[in-house]
Amino acid sequence: MSNRPYIVGNWKMNGTRAMLSEARTIDRAAQRYMKVEVAVAPPFTLIHAVHKEAEQIGVGAQDCHPGEDGAHTGDISATMVSDAGAKFVILGHSERRQNHGEDSAMVLAKLHAALNAGINAIICCGEPEDVRVAGDAEKYVLDQLRASLPEKLDDAGERLTVAYEPIWAIGTGRVATVEDIEAMHGAIYAFLKARFGEEAAQGIRILYGGSVKPENAREILAVPHVGGALVGGASLSADSFMNIALAAGEIEEQ
Ligand code: PEP
Repeated sequence: MSNRPYIVGNWKMNGTRAMLSEARTIDRAAQRYMKVEVAVAPPFTLIHAVHKEAEQIGVGAQDCHPGEDGAHTGDISATMVSDAGAKFVILGHSERRQNHGEDSAMVLAKLHAALNAGINAIICCGEPEDVRVAGDAEKYVLDQLRASLPEKLDDAGERLTVAYEPIWAIGTGRVATVEDIEAMHGAIYAFLKARFGEEAAQGIRILYGGSVKPENAREILAVPHVGGALVGGASLSADSFMNIALAAGEIEEQ
């Protein structure tokens, strides 16, 4: 199991080949931060090109289809992203759940497809603001995970990562409080331990996502059970992204 902090950039629908120089800069910088596992998930169109640039960083996809192949116009399978160089896939991001009507059963089907294709998965969860205000965030997130994850794992958890991303914090500049992050990550860890056993739960890193920036990364990454960050906007610049990785590395050294 790797227990290095895991800093993952989600480029979303951003990036043309002009972004390859940024990927190269991220990769070269990551070679100096070996205590941190750094990865980026570019759009499908750049996976292969970023993979060819990458000596150090992991490269992933932002989604995959649950099927292996067939008549699914416009879709991309887990085998295809693997063939392009992806080593993992982000599944169940709130933008997929909202914009494409993906429910947790679909996320679970995609997870099976990813694991069968030999790639790892980052499963996203997170509550909308009204649920947080009503005091139901923990139940909402654990219900999502209960339905998005399998009953059993075939390994010690190292192929799975969970990302907790409160929806109201994504791209808004608002961040959950340290107390709320600690409570939620603790609850997710307890759920994973009950579901998969202690050894596997310890192998599953739980990332925080939602407006993580160089300025707030240190505080967030120091919270118990925060195993890294899923970073959207701030991952589009090598400078800000690698400053987040630097914060993770400094915490690791303490
Ligand atoms: C995300 O969408 O995964 C994300 C965390 O975005 P941002 O960092 O921009 O809030």
